[in-house]
Amino acid sequence: MGFSGFRVIKEALTGHRGWGPLWRDPAPRAQYDIVIVGGGGHGLATAYFLAKLYGRHRVAVLEKGWLGGGNIGRNTTIIRSNYLLPGNQPFYELSMQHWERQEQDLNFNSMVSQRGIINLIHSDAQRDSFRRRGNSMMLTGAGARLLDRDALRQMVPFLNYDNARFPIKGGLMQTRAGTARHDGVAWGYARAADRMGVDIIQNCEVTGFRIEGGQVRGVETSRGYIGAGKVGVAVAGSSGRVMAMAGLRLPIESHVLQAFVTEGLKPVIPGVITFGAGHFYISQSDKGGLVFGGDIDGYNSYAQRGNLPVVEDVAEGGMALMPMIGRARLLRSWGGLMDMSMDGSPIIDRTPVEGLYFNGGWCYGGFKATPASGHVFAHLLATDTPHDTATAFRLDRFARGHLIDERGAGAQPNLH
Ligand SMILES: Cc1cc2nc3c(=O)[nH]c(=O)nc-3n(C[C@H](O)[C@H](O)[C@H](O)COP(=O)(O)OP(=O)(O)OC[C@H]3O[C@@H](n4cnc5c(N)ncnc54)[C@H](O)[C@@H]3O)c2cc1C
Repeated sequence: MGFSGFRVIKEALTGHRGWGPLWRDPAPRAQYDIVIVGGGGHGLATAYFLAKLYGRHRVAVLEKGWLGGGNIGRNTTIIRSNYLLPGNQPFYELSMQHWERQEQDLNFNSMVSQRGIINLIHSDAQRDSFRRRGNSMMLTGAGARLLDRDALRQMVPFLNYDNARFPIKGGLMQTRAGTARHDGVAWGYARAADRMGVDIIQNCEVTGFRIEGGQVRGVETSRGYIGAGKVGVAVAGSSGRVMAMAGLRLPIESHVLQAFVTEGLKPVIPGVITFGAGHFYISQSDKGGLVFGGDIDGYNSYAQRGNLPVVEDVAEGGMALMPMIGRARLLRSWGGLMDMSMDGSPIIDRTPVEGLYFNGGWCYGGFKATPASGHVFAHLLATDTPHDTATAFRLDRFARGHLIDERGAGAQPNLH
């Protein structure tokens, strides 16, 4: 079943009786060539690219809950490729290029909206560092625009420019950045992968790995044993727990990140605004709600809900940046499980267990990475070599000292 404007009109005129489920609900087979653990954005995108680019169709995605129940359905939907370091920038730019053609590729409306992102500048030193970052973005074709205070004020007049503690001196803008509908992304990849023969199996928790002579043979699950030639793990905040079942300890901590949405308002915020000095970011959804967030909760946790100190901290950040937000009523808040790596950058690599591959450590920013992560992880699984844009994301980089510390915060996962 393809989607088109014509189809929507036809269904509207015939009582919407022609729509079917977007993907099948198959029982697990005894054996697959490749099993992906985790039906979040990254797992689903990996399965899609395995089938589409590498011709691997005997693939299953195993999801312990329901599809979209993890971070892919909980994030604040920001997509961007405004990175500095050579290990990161080309990878995120690859992702941005995928976003730009995603809806055509998947034949699915994931509401990709390139409404722009502005990172605010609060000091002269920060302007210097953002200018450097902008140059790095230009080198990969990501595009960057340095805004002075007047240009910024014209775009977003409602900010508190003269806050004594965080005066706003300008901004670094990426006009190609923006937002995409997070669960539409999961559904789009699931539907497209399913159509190419991938089995998406929900309510199927991986409870162990069968490893013989250092080689993975399959996975134990809540729905029985499933054999696999290769296993790729993409379980985001559950990375530590799942990889421990294979005897591996990761340089990752899990933390809760909360997000918030207000009642629907008339359009007021044109794009995404990030307030690095106080760590607060905000955009406005197509329904009108202000969607915003801030820091992770300050303790390790596997709970998908957070605590009140961060709620207070985020509300303070919002008030410092744009006092008018105090008039909006908060509708909902929620939390997701973040896989915070020691340098703030991801890991996409083989593991010491033959046939077992790992994708994780996405920290605050894995949603925007979803397409590229799926692409390069599929490349690694299919060819056993890292993709050109992901050669730096090695598991052993922490032992070698080759960190990709985008924020310059050191081995402090809570600060990335
Ligand atoms: C509040 C919040 C805001 C965010 N905002 C942004 C943003 O604006 N921009 C951005 O780029 N990123 C953002 N992120 C980060 C981003 O959402 C994540 O980095 C990314 O979604 C993680 O990858 P995923 O989609 O594959 O994860 P998930 O959707 O969490 O997928 C992992 C899946 O693995 C499953 N699983 C776990 N254990 C097992 C098991 N044993 N067996 C089978 N399945 C298992 C889980 O149920 C889950 O569905 C945000 C995250 C949160 C929580």
